[in-house]
Amino acid sequence: MRVDLHTHSTASDGTDSPAELVRNAAAAGLDVVALTDHDTSRGYAEAIDALPSGLTLVTGAEMSCRIDGVSMHLLAYLFDPEEPALLAERELVRDDRVPRAQGMVAKLQELGVPVTWEQVARIAGQGSVGRPHVATALVELGVVPTVNDAFTVDWLADGGRAHVAKHETDPFEAIRLVKAAGGVTVFAHPGASKRGHTVPEAAIAEMAAAGLDGIEVEHMDHDAETRVRLRGLAKELGLLVTGSSDYHGSRKSVQLGEYTTDPEVYGEITRRATGAFPVPGAGGV
Ligand code: AMP
Ligand code: FE
Ligand code: FE
Ligand code: ZN
Repeated sequence: MRVDLHTHSTASDGTDSPAELVRNAAAAGLDVVALTDHDTSRGYAEAIDALPSGLTLVTGAEMSCRIDGVSMHLLAYLFDPEEPALLAERELVRDDRVPRAQGMVAKLQELGVPVTWEQVARIAGQGSVGRPHVATALVELGVVPTVNDAFTVDWLADGGRAHVAKHETDPFEAIRLVKAAGGVTVFAHPGASKRGHTVPEAAIAEMAAAGLDGIEVEHMDHDAETRVRLRGLAKELGLLVTGSSDYHGSRKSVQLGEYTTDPEVYGEITRRATGAFPVPGAGGV
């Protein structure tokens, strides 16, 4: 059984529509795929409608959080998508991304880049707008050769010349909200040091004590040494270990199913969740 618990669609900064994503997941030989768009659950309906038989969908989201000034991502699975407090927080963070992206456009214009909000809004479409959309605009304009090249201090990296911070939830509050909505939490790519500062292990221990369920270990942004260290930490703290592609369609080079989660860990996640059930594919439309 092949399980990939972290993917993005056009509901955030991926390039596959939710329907294309689930079709591609089935074609990649996956049995289970989680849809974890940034700060939104708006892709679920389309993914469920298109879900091929033989593929199971785990509904989820990747929540933008910040602790002691360090940004981090919290994967939330199988929460009740209608639960009002968590839904309100999700919408708040998603909506705040619009003025924030407009702020980054303004900073880029001050730096002499002829980018416009209309261009970024076209690229983002209905998606939760983020730096990868702004980065795609910079590629279109020939300012940088690839999306990755926009994530430097010259442009959009944390603290970079054109970076603007967004509203991010306190992770302890996020864990509490997800639990209250019947969901399960996994700290996404906790050792992704090239994205900026990482959260210290002492803070991960505090999150574990506050109910964090697991950490993502098998991820393209973790080198071999980091994976060994994080596995040790998970064992010490009694956390589940996941592995996932963090697929973003053509915006990143990683492929669906390139990293996967142990089916037993997947089973444990489904047993802990009470907010929603995994959705078995009915054949799709
Ligand atoms: P945002 O949520 O708007 O701050 O954008 C964060 C997103 O940008 C992440 O989810 C990744 O998709 C992407 N990202 C972050 N850091 C990098 C990086 N160093 N290189 C490429 N993409 C990145
Ligand atoms: Fe992303
Ligand atoms: Fe992430
Ligand atoms: Zn992600």
